[in-house]
Amino acid sequence: MEERPIESAVLELRFQIDRVPDQRRATEHTFSVSLSASSFEDPSLEGEPLQIEGTISRHGTEVNVFSRIEYALNVTCVRCLEVFCVRGTVSEYGHFLHRKQGGPTYPEHEQYGDGGLIDLVPWIREVVLIDLPEYPLCSENCSGLCPECGENIRKGLCHCPKFG
Ligand SMILES: [Zn+2]
Ligand SMILES: [Zn+2]
Repeated sequence: MEERPIESAVLELRFQIDRVPDQRRATEHTFSVSLSASSFEDPSLEGEPLQIEGTISRHGTEVNVFSRIEYALNVTCVRCLEVFCVRGTVSEYGHFLHRKQGGPTYPEHEQYGDGGLIDLVPWIREVVLIDLPEYPLCSENCSGLCPECGENIRKGLCHCPKFG
């Protein structure tokens, strides 16, 4: 497989702890990027580039992130199995704590390791995944697939006497 060059938006969402402004001395850092859906390296997430804006700052080693994410991603209708686009906007706060090697974990918080690298891309992926509908429907009254022929009823593909 050919290696893709790392997209600049991915780099803009990666922070080394010592470059994150300490809120006791400086104002928070703001970011605004357009991130391609493929940067999640998750085949289930395809669609238009995500518009992401937010802020990051820290208090000592505790890092606080706020992000507003606009997405338009492809999902599959649970009734008719058609792929369609879901648009949404989600805002979320993240709290990242330093986890020393061999030290305690903080299950309710995000963590970063001794290298001091905070990568927001996996966190953004989680935020978007949670925001996507659990049972996507292409339309409220999607009639799904014909139980007889298996074709999509709403698209008129079924010609069975009962449904078509
Ligand atoms: Zn449907
Ligand atoms: Zn049919």
